[in-house]
Amino acid sequence: MWCDTIFSCVHATCMLSHVLRVKGSGVKACKGKIPPDAHKQYLTLYKKGKMKNESRKWVSENVVETVDGIQHSAAASIQLSTKSQSTD
Ligand SMILES: [Zn+2]
Repeated sequence: MWCDTIFSCVHATCMLSHVLRVKGSGVKACKGKIPPDAHKQYLTLYKKGKMKNESRKWVSENVVETVDGIQHSAAASIQLSTKSQSTD
């Protein structure tokens, strides 16, 4: 965007790592001149993306537990309904 670097990946975080010159991101640092205003925007986006990834991971971990709980309660309710039906 600010230079003629071609990204090896198409993810927005790669582009952000590039323009923000994030160390250890595996993306080459940008050699272009980035206006401070744009840099600020990229930094905000980058932080947002990181937070999203972390919360998404947290959510997916908790979703597994929730699904397990739903399956247990669903099985319990099925058992209850079949019991009440058989007694009728
Ligand atoms: Zn660049």
